[in-house]
Amino acid sequence: MNKQYICPVCGYEGLKDPPYSETREPSYEICPCCGFEFGFDTENCKDSYSKFRLKWIENGASWFLPDKKPKDWDLNKQLKNIG
Ligand SMILES: [Zn+2]
Repeated sequence: MNKQYICPVCGYEGLKDPPYSETREPSYEICPCCGFEFGFDTENCKDSYSKFRLKWIENGASWFLPDKKPKDWDLNKQLKNIG
């Protein structure tokens, strides 16, 4: 099984690549949950993560790729992944 990575924006655990490599190269992967694109939407910065997260939750926390959404998905549980 491939290792999966946690989205620092929404806490989704299932990114194929780490959002940023050791050399700080962004993955340009789009999170299927919150739709954040690493390296495109913002710089690697905790502040922009939380801003994006708040906006996303305000807009109803809808999935970027609804097909990937688990039936028993729980936003609050997922947010605990990022503390
Ligand atoms: Zn996400």
